[in-house]
Amino acid sequence: MGAEAADRDLEAFRGRVRAWLADRAGPRAGPGEGRQEGWGQGPDDVSVFHSLSFADEKALIDRAAAWQRQKFDAGFGAITWAPEYGGGGLGPEFAEVFAHEEAHVETPPGHELLTVTLHLIAPTIELVGTPGQRALLVRRFLRAEELCCQLFSEPGAGSDLAALATRAVRDGDAWVVNGQKVWSSGAQFADWGMLIARTDPDAAKHAGLTAFMIALGSPGVTIRPLRQMSGGSSFNEVFLDGVRVPDSLRLGEVGGGWRTALTTLGFEREASSAPSQVGGGFRELVALARWLGRAGDPLVRQQLADVFINERLARVSAQRDEQARQAGRAPGAAGSLRKLRWVAGMESASRTAALLLGPRLTADTGEWGTFCWSAHVLGAPGYRIAGGSDEIQRNIIAERILGLPGEPRTDRGRPWRDIPR
Ligand SMILES: Cc1cc2nc3c(=O)[nH]c(=O)nc-3n(C[C@H](O)[C@H](O)[C@H](O)COP(=O)(O)OP(=O)(O)OC[C@H]3O[C@@H](n4cnc5c(N)ncnc54)[C@H](O)[C@@H]3O)c2cc1C
Repeated sequence: MGAEAADRDLEAFRGRVRAWLADRAGPRAGPGEGRQEGWGQGPDDVSVFHSLSFADEKALIDRAAAWQRQKFDAGFGAITWAPEYGGGGLGPEFAEVFAHEEAHVETPPGHELLTVTLHLIAPTIELVGTPGQRALLVRRFLRAEELCCQLFSEPGAGSDLAALATRAVRDGDAWVVNGQKVWSSGAQFADWGMLIARTDPDAAKHAGLTAFMIALGSPGVTIRPLRQMSGGSSFNEVFLDGVRVPDSLRLGEVGGGWRTALTTLGFEREASSAPSQVGGGFRELVALARWLGRAGDPLVRQQLADVFINERLARVSAQRDEQARQAGRAPGAAGSLRKLRWVAGMESASRTAALLLGPRLTADTGEWGTFCWSAHVLGAPGYRIAGGSDEIQRNIIAERILGLPGEPRTDRGRPWRDIPR
């Protein structure tokens, strides 16, 4: 197709999107790009993590899932996915157009559990799942009918994930799982968990792992929310006590769990640089600067430009990632570069808010649009750790992109059972 015809297609698509959105959602309220009249209206939440009661967070997830279902049924919920999964089979530029248009209307707020389900787990199953698993789960996840969390980290295994100790032992056509996971975001609201467990303690630590899909309603699963400093309970401890998982829900080869985990973590790094904004950003900061009469301050302008550039870069790299995914390539080490950039952008937004607000950041005067930024400042550092800490991303970049010598690994090749813990 020629470039002009492609542009025409894209513009026709934009028209359809606008008409569809206009029928369902009003223009976005709140501080829009320089719209002074939006200031002081609607919610002023710019937080990075929710700070809600269980019931309120559940209601928020339900609204976000219902919106995803509406989009999916209209052909806008899985734009770049293949039609066999109910997707639109279109290029990433179409998804970009939809995201751009959607950002201008009032839609239910998103939730990280939907991000995990749609952007981490569904593509992992598409890549490594059996035809039966794809048929069972992918469409259901893309339509947000059921949601899935990640059961990777453990009290003794975070950065060194391959050290994990949760055991899965074969028993006929099922596996019996015992162990504890931690930091499991959204597990209290999820239907499924993607689990990495140790199936061979005598193999080297990376080689003895296997991935599973586990129904969280199964007997033996206990989920306990944890409270974090920004107020909410995004994370959980998940205890697995004799949980039976059918072998048909094993994801990938026995002993292939590390590769499967890396695939998901690669998607996580991509999703972390996706255009969907987490918490407040450029739009809200510009509105704040204008409200405070600081938009002409050269220092503020420089900071705002930094936030803007980071957001734009995140959009461009997300587009590139989507093209790679469509070409069937698993995400690689470049995801680490993008994740670092995305986190830097979020920190830049926090810094700009602090520069603009000074002491108003720490004391709640009840003034709309000010103290709310404290939740951004307290939450943003969490993303320096989530999905692999900054230090680990730098190690990956050093070793896999720059070709620098690897970290000394004294446990290389040793059976996991013999590694001191
Ligand atoms: C917001 C958030 C959401 C999360 N959601 C989930 C989830 O849904 N599911 C899940 O399974 N996990 C989740 N996690 C867990 C996350 O993956 C781990 O916290 C992360 O991998 C770090 O592990 P850790 O906390 O055990 O820290 P540790 O691994 O103990 O690291 C402690 C410190 O040491 C540094 N460090 C460790 N090893 C090295 C090294 N080799 N070189 C240099 N520095 C090093 C780290 O960078 C860090 O600063 C989440 C975490 C956060 C913050």
